[in-house]
Amino acid sequence: MDIILLGPPGAGKGTQAQRLVEAHGMRQLSTGDMLRAAVKAGTAVGLQAKAVMDRGELVCDAIVSALIGEELDAMAAGQGAIFDGYPRTAAQAESLDAILSARGRSLNHVIELGVDEDALVERICGRFTCANCGKGYHDKFEQPKVAGTCDKCGSHEFKRRPDDNEDTVRTRMAEYRAKTAPILPIYDARGIVSRVDGMADIDAVTAAIEQVIKG
Ligand code: ADP
Ligand code: AMP
Repeated sequence: MDIILLGPPGAGKGTQAQRLVEAHGMRQLSTGDMLRAAVKAGTAVGLQAKAVMDRGELVCDAIVSALIGEELDAMAAGQGAIFDGYPRTAAQAESLDAILSARGRSLNHVIELGVDEDALVERICGRFTCANCGKGYHDKFEQPKVAGTCDKCGSHEFKRRPDDNEDTVRTRMAEYRAKTAPILPIYDARGIVSRVDGMADIDAVTAAIEQVIKG
């Protein structure tokens, strides 16, 4: 099963993708994570993407679509994919169709996480992740069970994203409104969009997504 999680920055895509990975052995394909890895490794893609990401703008379509194709090729046959943060433009949505059909795959669901924009700044500015395993947390909404220790791997090191600040968040939201929200009608026309209340608490959102997947 291949699904897209769609929603503005801070909607909960990464949080829910990590849960789907745990529950169903699917693979999370986050172009944001791929780009951050490229920046950290200092690759040509990373060097090109860094300033764009720091401003909260979108990296060019060809780069992110190439990353998605490479990741899909590295997956086990039959493993489901969760697209997190991709596609973000109409051109990327078109590329994804081609990328999937070339591999004999197709989209089963597009799950839109509906959120109130006012809540997103608080969500994003309180976000942090385990530096070792990448598990996501929040200062207020999802704290580690033992303070300072990752629930999943026991690491004591955590990190915050440089673009998770109020100024950049506003740009990222504007990008979402202008370029990403307009792709929804493409999937609506195919009858594969489900809308989930992303303002509910994290467990309730997971339960609603599970309902969609069960059909
Ligand atoms: P996205 O991947 O869509 O940018 P994240 O999954 O990283 O968003 O969520 C942003 C922050 O908000 C994280 O710190 C996460 O713990 C928290 N969060 C996610 N879903 C919820 C929710 N339903 N209620 C409250 N906080 C949430
Ligand atoms: P994210 O981790 O999804 O919040 O993405 C962080 C940043 O990476 C975004 O603000 C963009 O600069 C860049 N990015 C991630 N995914 C994409 C994409 N599909 N298209 C363009 N830029 C992207």
